Amino acid sequence: MAGASVRLDLDGRPIKPVTICMIGAGGFIGSHLCEKILLETPHKILALDVYNDKIKHLLEPESQTGADRIQFHRLNIKHDSRLEGLIKMADLTINLAAICTPADYNTRPLDTIYSNFIDALPVVKYCSENNKRLIHFSTCEVYGKTIGSFLPKDSPLRQDPAYYVLKEDASPCIFGSIEKQRWSYACAKQLIERLIYAEGAENGLEFTIVRPFNWIGPRMDFIPGIDGPSEGVPRVLACFSNNLLRRQPLKLVDGGQSQRTFIYIKDAIEAVLLMIENPARANGHIFNVGNPHNEVTVRQLAEMMTEVYAKVSGEAALEEPTVDVSSKEFYGEGYDDSDKRIPDMTIINQQLGWNPKTSLWDLLESTLTYQHRTYAEAIKQAVAKPVAS
Ligand code: NAD
Ligand code: UDP
Repeated sequence: MAGASVRLDLDGRPIKPVTICMIGAGGFIGSHLCEKILLETPHKILALDVYNDKIKHLLEPESQTGADRIQFHRLNIKHDSRLEGLIKMADLTINLAAICTPADYNTRPLDTIYSNFIDALPVVKYCSENNKRLIHFSTCEVYGKTIGSFLPKDSPLRQDPAYYVLKEDASPCIFGSIEKQRWSYACAKQLIERLIYAEGAENGLEFTIVRPFNWIGPRMDFIPGIDGPSEGVPRVLACFSNNLLRRQPLKLVDGGQSQRTFIYIKDAIEAVLLMIENPARANGHIFNVGNPHNEVTVRQLAEMMTEVYAKVSGEAALEEPTVDVSSKEFYGEGYDDSDKRIPDMTIINQQLGWNPKTSLWDLLESTLTYQHRTYAEAIKQAVAKPVAS
């Protein structure tokens, strides 16, 4: 741990070391959160996941990052009797476990609903019954579509933030019809949020709900055919990275008109650490965590990533860097999309005084440098490999 001086919370009180049961610790967000906790705090982690590839570097005894304060438990929370015991051993549980790649929502809706609702139920129950604090990861997707998206295209109200900025305590949750199975994820997340909220109201569960708005950075998802299935479809950062690494045009779904705000994972993790260490300010709240200043259309993201990748790799960009595909072709039947996602930051500002720092260009530069360093050689070898006859 860096620095031995006493660390203080936002109200000037010394922070007591805690034990954290982190479910889904082996994923993208979990790996960054584990790293941050081990490097900068004295807290202990019980890391639960089916995989540990993304946190292997933290588990090795010779690691400089507090390997003695992290214990990995390989388990599937769907069916493992050790879960309650591990939650009981900890002061705080953080639940990150989920199926959370859009390509799965319409093609594996049952797995998506089970993972995001049913599998989270015992976690909430054990926390409530054992009086343990819970930080649960939900999603910005619970907002669904904006009110503004239903206005006529030329309506001046579309420019009014009241019709598109997403507020935790005021915005409605607007999903498409049932056959648009895209919304299976959002709906399951919304129901688990409501259940956690009700456990707080009726049984006194101490909870915080996090709604991430497109957190991106190194170690997000996988590169198809390298460290994930060849036919797999990860989230947009990994899809576009894969295209850039393979010198293929970036695929713009339905013209790439949807808008997103992207936040650097390292900024977002600072917000989570503040929640962990300031329970009195975080309990009972739902927090948007995003960067409202980093808004782009998906098309603009593709253009920026192409430019940044050319800079970090030294390779010239393709003459035609993007290609349009229909959502049906790319994701299959039942896909639908969120039109625009701008987080309102009032609550997180008031409670935790947190603000994101990193611009989209800077976060893409460090992330694509990582992608190039990690994957370029492996892709070259995979492409050069003769196909078995
Ligand atoms: P991720 O897929 O990288 O991590 C999820 C981890 O949970 C994986 O390591 C997976 O193996 C593990 N897991 C899933 N089911 C499990 C089970 N049954 N038992 C044990 N482990 C299991 O995803 P992430 O991006 O790190 O997201 C973490 C959480 O944040 C998810 O709940 C997701 O819905 C939410 N979220 C993330 C973003 C984002 O921008 N990254 C946006 C919205 C919501
Ligand atoms: N998208 C795209 N090309 C891709 C992958 C994704 O145009 O290769 C679009 C997708 O349709 C959506 C946006 O990029 O509009 C963000 O997708 P992501 O999978 O990251 O998740 P989401 O923000 O929708 O949860």
